[in-house]
This record gives sequence, structure tokens and C-alpha cells, in this order.
Amino acid sequence: MPILVMKFGGTSVATLDRIHRASKRVAREVANGYDVIVVVSAMSGKTNELVGWVDETSKFYDAREYDAVVSSGENVTAGLMALRLQEMDIPARSWQGWQVPLKTNSAHSSARIEEIPTDNIMAKFGQGMKVAVIAGFQGISPENRITTLGRGGSDTTAVAFAAAFGAERCDIYTDVDGVYTTDPRITSKARKLDKIAFEEMLELASLGAKVLQTRSVELAMRFKVRLRVLSSFEDNNESAGTLVCDEEDIVESKAVAGVAYSRDEAKVTLISVADRPGIAAAIFGPLAEAGVNVDMIVQNISEEGRTDMTFSLPVDQLARAEKAMNAAKEKGAINFHELVADTDVAKVSVVGIGMRSHAGVAAQMFRALSAEGINIKVITTSEIKISVLIDRKYMELAVQALHDTFELEKA
Ligand code: ASP
Ligand code: MG
Repeated sequence: MPILVMKFGGTSVATLDRIHRASKRVAREVANGYDVIVVVSAMSGKTNELVGWVDETSKFYDAREYDAVVSSGENVTAGLMALRLQEMDIPARSWQGWQVPLKTNSAHSSARIEEIPTDNIMAKFGQGMKVAVIAGFQGISPENRITTLGRGGSDTTAVAFAAAFGAERCDIYTDVDGVYTTDPRITSKARKLDKIAFEEMLELASLGAKVLQTRSVELAMRFKVRLRVLSSFEDNNESAGTLVCDEEDIVESKAVAGVAYSRDEAKVTLISVADRPGIAAAIFGPLAEAGVNVDMIVQNISEEGRTDMTFSLPVDQLARAEKAMNAAKEKGAINFHELVADTDVAKVSVVGIGMRSHAGVAAQMFRALSAEGINIKVITTSEIKISVLIDRKYMELAVQALHDTFELEKA
């Protein structure tokens, strides 16, 4: 029997009624001839509640116990889903991560999957079981402790199962009906994409489009798992949702597939640092050690052996970055006149594999922003992405202008 993976996110299993509705979708795929692996999230809001309980109980908590607590939401939905399917006369049972066993490393609260043995579940399929319901987000470490895969990790569980079992497809049921050209809350012209390439999805996911956990897309790309994102609240036909697939499955691509943004950025400029070999390492080494995720970097032109260094980072890491820089200055590792922080910036990016073959995308982007009077503070580019840092108050305007100029409302 061909295998299908169906993943239901928190809103799709938020109540007993929704679990019932999800089970009917599973039943339909069983009727279509699939052996189904269902991966479930916790009921929506549950994981946040559990995290809150841990925080309230223990300020500097033991990450192993954090995982023991926050993984429990998925145990409940997995069991309930299996029960509901049994009520519908479909042979089903639940598996918690450790029972599979889904083996991970020991990085508690953001563990990486190392292995998913298939024999146990395949044997059950062989004996007539139709649906294996897997508690998402959780695994077991070499030390025999429960681990979790990071927030949003059930997506990664689903893709990993699809890869391990050679599933025909991995359907991700969520509360939106697919991946959009941009956030529909910012422009009503945002359009649902029928298909998007893995690389584009990866950029969009890491740039803040929250439909899929970034790691799940990385994994899907590596193992060429066809992913479909679709709504569990609508009646879907065969072509519903968005297929995240290999570039070759996309016949013709526009230069730009989507516009992404990230609102909570900050910009730091170190004024007048010595321009000498090793200065970048002396700055960014301590930032990395302090756990600061530096994103964009610009070194300004140098005058009389001194230069300004500018970088962007998530705004909630600013205090940590300032502390690291001041400490490095005190130790004499770096020397700057002043540290200037700008906390009112946002990043807007255009993404598309078509950029590789279309010239002039950057020029068109900058023209559209300038027509709106938006000043660009920092620019970075990759083969399939151009990002700019701008004043936060222009973020919505910039997204709308870019969506218009690249005519993303048109298929
Ligand atoms: N329940 C977990 C979370 O809220 C994992 C998931 O739903 O993907 O992050
Ligand atoms: Mg999710």
C-alpha cells in the first residue's frame, strides 16, 4: 500500500469536534487506498500553557524536565485521534516518540532527529493496521530521556516520517489554505500559490512566513519529500493548498515568488573601529558566543585606517549584543568610539528562484521603494533573495509596493 503522511496542527485538533473532523479526512484517505501515518500537534494553546507552567515553577529549569512536560500535549491528541478512528471502525493506534522510537540527539528543547526505524510500524501495517497516529514534536535521546524538536516541531516530525517511510506525499493541515505571495493581512492582493520550490519556501519560512517550521522545509528539500500545505477547515479537492516541491516540477517561474518581512529587527553600528585584519572576527566572534544571531552585515568604507561596522539582529537580542561589544572593548579586543543602536527597523525581502535567470530584479525593487520615499539602510542579496532594512513604520508600505511592482497578484 502506498503511504501518506497527514499532519494536523494545533488549530486542527483544538477540540474533540475538530479531532473528529480531522479523522474523517484520514478516513477518506484510507478509503483512497493509503496506509496513513498521522502526525498530530497538541491542541492549540496547550504547549504555551505547558511552557508557562514550567517557567512559573522553575526559573532556571532543567531542560530535560522542560521536555518531559511540554511534550505531553501531543500525547493527548495522539491518543484521542486513535480512539476516534477506532470509533469509525478504522484500525488505528497511537505512538509516542519513544515508542517508535524516534531517536534524537541530546539537545533538549531543540533536538535533531537522528533515526526513525520503520520496522515496528511497518509490521503493524502488514497486520492490517490502517493508521499510525504519531505524537509530533517529541523523541528520545541516547540517554533515554524525552526530547522535543523546538517550537513548531511537529512539521519536522511529519516530514521525517515521510522521508523514512518513502511516503507519496506529506500533507500539512493547518488553519490557512496554503502559502501566499505575502501576508494577506498586509495586502488583500496576496495570492495563494499553487506551487512553490523548496528553496523559495525555505527562504520564506526563515524570513518569517510562519506556515512551516524552517527545519521541516530543510528536511523536505534534502529528502525530496513532496509537501502540501492545506486547510483543515475547507473541503479540499485534489489541487487544494500549496505544493512545496522540487524546482523541476515548476514549469515557469516568475522572477519573484513572494515578499517576506520581519518586523522586530534592530541595527547596530560600531562607529570608528580600527580597519585591520581580524577586526570582523574580533567583533562577530564574541557576538556568536553570546548567542546573537547576526543577520545583515555592512562594513563601511575606511578612512585613515578606521571604519564603521553595521549589523542587524533580532531586537530582543540587542541587550546581549551591547553587553558583548562593551565587554570586548573593555578587554581591548576591539576599539570603537561609539555604539549606535536603532531599534525601529524592519527587514523586507523578495524571494524567487526566477531571479537566477531574470536580470534587474534588484534595480526594480529599489526603484519601487524609492518611488514611495522609503530609505534603504542595509541591503543583502543571495542568489534567490534580496533583503533590505528600512524604518519599521514603512514596512507595510514596502511590502505592498513590492507586491505591486512584481505583479504578484497575477498568476
Ligand atoms: N505543539 C508544539 C508547539 O506548539 C509543536 C507543534 O505544534 O508543532 O510548538
Ligand atoms: Mg505549526
